[in-house]
Amino acid sequence: MMLRKIFMALSALTLINAGSAGASAERPQLPANSDSDQNWALPSTAVIIDVGHGGVDGGASAGQILEKDINLAIAKKLYLLLKSQGIPAVLNRTGDYALSEDNRWHASSSRHRKDLSQRRQLTEEIESELLVSLHVNWSKNRSTHGPIVLHQKQGESALLAFCIQDTLNRQQNTAYLPKEGKPYYLLKRVKQPSVIVEMGFISNSRDLSMLTDPHKQQQIAMAVASGIRQYKWIVH
Ligand SMILES: [Zn+2]
Repeated sequence: MMLRKIFMALSALTLINAGSAGASAERPQLPANSDSDQNWALPSTAVIIDVGHGGVDGGASAGQILEKDINLAIAKKLYLLLKSQGIPAVLNRTGDYALSEDNRWHASSSRHRKDLSQRRQLTEEIESELLVSLHVNWSKNRSTHGPIVLHQKQGESALLAFCIQDTLNRQQNTAYLPKEGKPYYLLKRVKQPSVIVEMGFISNSRDLSMLTDPHKQQQIAMAVASGIRQYKWIVH
């Protein structure tokens, strides 16, 4: 059901983008002598926006404020911004539910494993140039603040992380470097350049007010979109 929703959103996007004839909307061509169905093609997009957590998994929290809701609010803004800038995107969740509820692939009884494998599987069912996973950080130390972008070992992911880190640093007046996100399942398993964007710390009062203010959320989304555009400009 989840995938059907995404495919519908994708077809709508393809329709919207048909007029501008972006190269990224083109489907891969199969060789003429292929045994496969000639009409087969993966749906494609430029950016998969992975919306961290959802449903019973609230992520980090500060009182009643949950990370999953912040991630979704900023993800929707990022989706609209990218779309308005001619960069096709999909959201892997558009409401408050856990992706593990829709997992068709992972036999594990662990909801967390199911959730992670569902997120990875989407990246194999939809062709995309890159994946951006939105999260909010938490620290015992309440003064810790600012954005941190985690990347894969590969150079393209590191480059994407540098671009997004730079635009978020400018937006939040910080000077952090991105980090390699070794222990993260999603970064290890996803083939296309992927990054985890920790947009700020829910445990820091200044970051918390930024993360929950719709106007500031828009600025965060603009910074992430601008980092994505810079990356695309460099690699193409
Ligand atoms: Zn998270």
